[in-house]
Amino acid sequence: MSLRDLYQDIIVDHGKQPRNFGKLANANHCQMGHNPLCGDRLTLYVIERNGIVDDVRFEGVGCAISVASASLMTEMIKGKSVHEIERIFNLFHHLVTEGKELDGDIGKLAAFGGVAEFPVRVKCATLAWHTLKAALANNLHPVTTE
Ligand code: ZN
Repeated sequence: MSLRDLYQDIIVDHGKQPRNFGKLANANHCQMGHNPLCGDRLTLYVIERNGIVDDVRFEGVGCAISVASASLMTEMIKGKSVHEIERIFNLFHHLVTEGKELDGDIGKLAAFGGVAEFPVRVKCATLAWHTLKAALANNLHPVTTE
């Protein structure tokens, strides 16, 4: 596999023009995440009501993989239950570490299948998700992948 395969169109697109980018003034969960290995940083804002993620936005700087992952994650989880989000994260984590899709629809997230071939990129791809998990658990400490 080549680097070209890793940077699929959808990843380049979301890396350059992230969706749901910015602050959410009335967020009831807020969490910072940092991947020192690559320098990726993000802050996640979540509005969660009765176990459903009503809205989510993020701010930050990082490589194309980390920004695209955060962008696609926000699109994927809006309107979903915390339980469903955990299931999607497990499928996504399996994909980026094993390079294979398990049964279960992860939609556009399938574009990250190439990440498994580049272990150093796994942390870029999963930073937003680890940060989300901590946000929903009301973890008071910033997330770091190291
Ligand atoms: Zn990165």
